[in-house]
Amino acid sequence: MTAHRVVVTGGAGFLGSHLCERLLGGGASVICMDNFLTGSPGNVEHLMGRPRFRLIECDLTGFVHVPGEVDLVLHFASAASPTDYLRHPIATLKVGSLGTLHSLGLAREKGARFVLASTSEVYGDPLEHPQRETYWGNVNPVGPRSVYDEAKRFAESLTTAYRNSHGVDTAIVRIFNTYGPRMRPHDGRAIPTFVRQALNGEPITVTGDGSQTRSICYVDDTVQGVLTLAESGFEGPVNIGNPSELSMLRLAMTIRDLTGSSSPIVFVDRPVDDPAVRRPDTSLAARRLGWRPEIDVTTGLRRTISWFERELLETSRPAS
Ligand code: NAD
Repeated sequence: MTAHRVVVTGGAGFLGSHLCERLLGGGASVICMDNFLTGSPGNVEHLMGRPRFRLIECDLTGFVHVPGEVDLVLHFASAASPTDYLRHPIATLKVGSLGTLHSLGLAREKGARFVLASTSEVYGDPLEHPQRETYWGNVNPVGPRSVYDEAKRFAESLTTAYRNSHGVDTAIVRIFNTYGPRMRPHDGRAIPTFVRQALNGEPITVTGDGSQTRSICYVDDTVQGVLTLAESGFEGPVNIGNPSELSMLRLAMTIRDLTGSSSPIVFVDRPVDDPAVRRPDTSLAARRLGWRPEIDVTTGLRRTISWFERELLETSRPAS
């Protein structure tokens, strides 16, 4: 099935805006729904003039209505960076629960396929490495990060219940750390923080001793994985991420090298319940979807750094 009319919730955010762009490029009509909590209309400004694109300001925790047919709902609305969800804990729990309920209701009403953007954070501080979809996770239900992790775990459960009880055609994608253009320089995630600090010649702040690992995936690869899942009949859950794992200290040093910066690297406190390791096992995605990440870390980081250079130049220019 090729989707013709797609609703992207959280479409004015980082991942959502890339999804909207790719869907439009593929010939679909796109309805982008967002309350601009952590995203902004600026992320989809370049799509605004297109006849098949519509931006609707809407809080998914309230009433959700879309006129006409819809054949795919991509549910991406939710604060995603720790800085954002710790600033908006209740809103994060509400969009993961009520927002998911309403988005599933929309898919049910329209007979549309539904894809939930879940996260590697459902694995918590993992006791299994790399993480396979069969791993149930190690999440502290009352820790500060639980507002995000448990909201996503609930959203996965709700999605499964809608599939089993209401026959909605659902899929769950567990996305691992994704980076690229349109991340906000101050969103608190490691890559935008390190790139901004390196480009501004400020100290690069690595948390803990920097030995904790992440596996970072360039946004184009993640978007390709999500859309391949959407087009398939597969229900998941399926990991989408890049298995090339690196320590936070190595990431900071790589970004410093690629920017040509002489920023010192300094060590600051590690956040509570910060996972020690993170690496997806992507064999299920390869087997069921034929998907593999294609963009290596250096290429992805170079593209991201070029975008940040332009952005920082733009914002530092005096208004005329
Ligand atoms: P983002 O913060 O850039 O985008 C989230 C969007 O959701 C924003 O535009 C925000 O305004 C919108 N939103 C939040 N609450 C809403 C509500 N109640 N109603 C309508 N819109 C609302 O984050 P992102 O990195 O683009 O993440 C998008 C999705 O992908 C999230 O669901 C996140 O959990 C998931 N994800 C992202 C990553 C990653 O590395 N970027 C990793 C795992 C999962």
